[in-house]
Amino acid sequence: MKIPTVALVGRPNVGKSTIFNKLVGKKISIIEDTPGVTRDRIYADVNYNSYKFHLIDTGGIDVSKELFNDEIKIQAEIAIDEADIIVFIVDGNEELNQNDFVIRDYLKKSGKDVIVAVNKIDNKRREDNIYNFYELGFSKVIGISGEHNIGIGELLDLICSNFKEYEINYHPFFR
Ligand code: GDP
Ligand code: MG
Repeated sequence: MKIPTVALVGRPNVGKSTIFNKLVGKKISIIEDTPGVTRDRIYADVNYNSYKFHLIDTGGIDVSKELFNDEIKIQAEIAIDEADIIVFIVDGNEELNQNDFVIRDYLKKSGKDVIVAVNKIDNKRREDNIYNFYELGFSKVIGISGEHNIGIGELLDLICSNFKEYEINYHPFFR
């Protein structure tokens, strides 16, 4: 039986690592791999209610030898190959930019299940910003703030509602 995999994708600086930490529930994103070198932790298992899933922060995967555009492409490909559900993180405090649309195009083409998480919605004043991101063309759009721990439970609910069909197999007695 397959435990579902969820991947976080998005251009640099939108808050992927911050959200990864919040979803995992511990400050584990930064680990020491080689002495003197810190790298983002990219894989973790998340337990939420009766659910369990693998979480990948594709932004933590080091493809820095590549050109910036290729880097985004590789990260999107990893997400598309490995994930059952993709959380596409965008910056709710900025306009959509060309890199967001590059990622959008890959994800659309893949036909995978995508949740758009509009991050940095830190207060009520920013809530209206969320609507701009429907332009990406995905129906599931949620406003969150990784830093202020807003909307993380709702994001987890949305993620898990997408894999009930797998989960039924793991916990037949819970249903
Ligand atoms: P990544 O490059 O996508 O992994 O982004 P990081 O998680 O490293 O975050 C990039 C920057 O955005 C950091 O300075 C974070 O502190 C900041 N950040 C992350 N989440 C939020 C948020 O919800 N609100 C605000 N205002 N800043 C955030
Ligand atoms: Mg990161």
